[in-house]
Amino acid sequence: MKLSGWGRYPVVDCGTATLRGPEDLGGVLARRGTLIARGQGRSYADAALNRDLTLSTLGLGRMQAFDADTGVLTCEAGVGLDDILRTFVPRGWFPPVVPGTKFVTVGGMIAADVHGKNHHRDGTFGAHVEALTLATADGGIRVCSRTQDADLFRATLGGMGLTGVILSASFRMQPIETSFVLAETVAAADLDAAMAVFEASHDWPYSVAWIDCLARGRRLGRSLVLRGAPMRRRALPAALASRPLRLAPEGRIRVPVDAPSLLLNRWSVGLFNGLYHRRGRARAGPRPVHFDPFFFPLDRIDGWNRLYGRRGFVQYQCVLSAGESAAGLAALLGRVSVAGQGSFLAVLKRFGPAGEGLMSFPAEGYTLALDLPLRRGTLALVDALDGITHAHGGRVYFAKDACCRPERMREGYPQHAAFDALRKAWGAPRKFASELSRRLEL
Ligand SMILES: Cc1cc2nc3c(=O)[nH]c(=O)nc-3n(C[C@H](O)[C@H](O)[C@H](O)COP(=O)(O)OP(=O)(O)OC[C@H]3O[C@@H](n4cnc5c(N)ncnc54)[C@H](O)[C@@H]3O)c2cc1C
Repeated sequence: MKLSGWGRYPVVDCGTATLRGPEDLGGVLARRGTLIARGQGRSYADAALNRDLTLSTLGLGRMQAFDADTGVLTCEAGVGLDDILRTFVPRGWFPPVVPGTKFVTVGGMIAADVHGKNHHRDGTFGAHVEALTLATADGGIRVCSRTQDADLFRATLGGMGLTGVILSASFRMQPIETSFVLAETVAAADLDAAMAVFEASHDWPYSVAWIDCLARGRRLGRSLVLRGAPMRRRALPAALASRPLRLAPEGRIRVPVDAPSLLLNRWSVGLFNGLYHRRGRARAGPRPVHFDPFFFPLDRIDGWNRLYGRRGFVQYQCVLSAGESAAGLAALLGRVSVAGQGSFLAVLKRFGPAGEGLMSFPAEGYTLALDLPLRRGTLALVDALDGITHAHGGRVYFAKDACCRPERMREGYPQHAAFDALRKAWGAPRKFASELSRRLEL
């Protein structure tokens, strides 16, 4: 089957199978060649692709136990975040960390060790995982935690499926009083101003900025910084107080066809970014926002990736240390602005300290993510951006990366040798591989 990630590039002809339970493992592992687990395929490029065998875990969809005293939920790895939200928000519980889409699986969140708008305070999703069960290359099923096979546990958080197939996990949910966030938008005239807002917003549990990446010169890095905090029940306005833990109405707008690539050009994107910025400024001041549009604004548009046309797009995401961020981000944004390949979405976020996953992406500093529609010259531009990131001592996010060079990966991820050694010790290289791991020579 021809498969791709969310960016629809690259497209790879893959052998496929679906795992419905541990009983299927024997047959799957006995097949010749390597395999990679796949959740909802929301990683952008080739992390969840293997031409030999791409193994869907969506058959592992059961929630298994919930302890209302500790908030620990145990579920199979193919359970969707959307399912967890639908089930637990009305009961007053929220996942500890959520990425920018709810259409991901628990296995995908652990394997990419995803970060959310609260990374500066709460770390990655993996920081809240108590234990996981992993099918390893020898056909065994291991329960890993910080006290049991701890090395394997640390390698699996952010290990992009390369240590084995995660079958289930236990993680701590957070109690909530309402399903609303008190949110405010702060307009920042340029990059320095945006970073100053982040530095002053540490006490806000959630923060993120949308950058107009076509703004140039003095306005380079012009942004809207969105920050928020979970709302207490007593703070809800009367109109919302009767159903404090409501879910957002279902219903999504569908993108029916691939948009012609002409639709996204320097002028249309510039217009969009300009309008977005003005709209954000007009909305200044704190207001209650439902968690769904606050955390997952793009999920309302079903298949928004088709807006980038048939050829797809690349999302470039990197992190730079706090000391390198001002210069590095200016260089990256300057390069994108000159290329005129601007994106609807350029996102900036202040990360807190790195977590425990050997290959986890987040590290103390700033992360920048931008979408680039795939055209002639786009991959060369991404390589140039990579060069800037590398020169500033940063690294790219494997869940997004489409073309990083192996030597840059090795410098960006200093624990890659420990990761490789651990994989070898568990026999993983002969069974678990992806197009990403081949490309990066992991
Ligand atoms: C709109 C959008 C917004 C996003 N925002 C963020 C964000 O804010 N923060 C962030 O960190 N990420 C973000 N992402 C990326 C996304 O959260 C990750 O790529 C996540 O891994 C996707 O989960 P999935 O179930 O779709 O996994 P897939 O894309 O199917 O797989 C991703 C990786 O996980 C591995 N994997 C999946 N299931 C298993 C399993 N059971 N066992 C072992 N390995 C497994 C795969 O092999 C692959 O390496 C975003 C993606 C989109 C499309």
